[in-house]
Amino acid sequence: MVTKIDHIGIAVKNLDEALKFYEEVLGIKCVGTEVVEEQKVKTAFLPIGDTEVELLEATDEDSPIAKFIEKRGEGIQHIAYRVDDIEKALEEVKERGIRLIDEKPRRGAGGAKIAFLHPKSTFGVLIELCERE
Ligand code: ZN
Repeated sequence: MVTKIDHIGIAVKNLDEALKFYEEVLGIKCVGTEVVEEQKVKTAFLPIGDTEVELLEATDEDSPIAKFIEKRGEGIQHIAYRVDDIEKALEEVKERGIRLIDEKPRRGAGGAKIAFLHPKSTFGVLIELCERE
């Protein structure tokens, strides 16, 4: 079903400070930022090899990212797996009794179609399925 790790989502309190670390210390260059209004986050994309690091900063205190940081602190928030057909993938995981956060795909950063699986069904990891054109 999945073809690769599309990106790793990391929740940070301050995007600019985090970017300094990633760009200046690790040498991974940011290729763009985007505000995703629906999720109340500002994201930065840092391609590395065949995958990407996605830094996420909350733009509002009731953003899922703000809630995550409040509960667990900064750190890895989700892992996104690339799929070719997200509708089909969602149908398949649903048939297997996997708990979904999103029954239907929605628009993520970069125009991707994304949907989250519930960590209760995935051994504690928030999994994003991600289809790109
Ligand atoms: Zn993501």
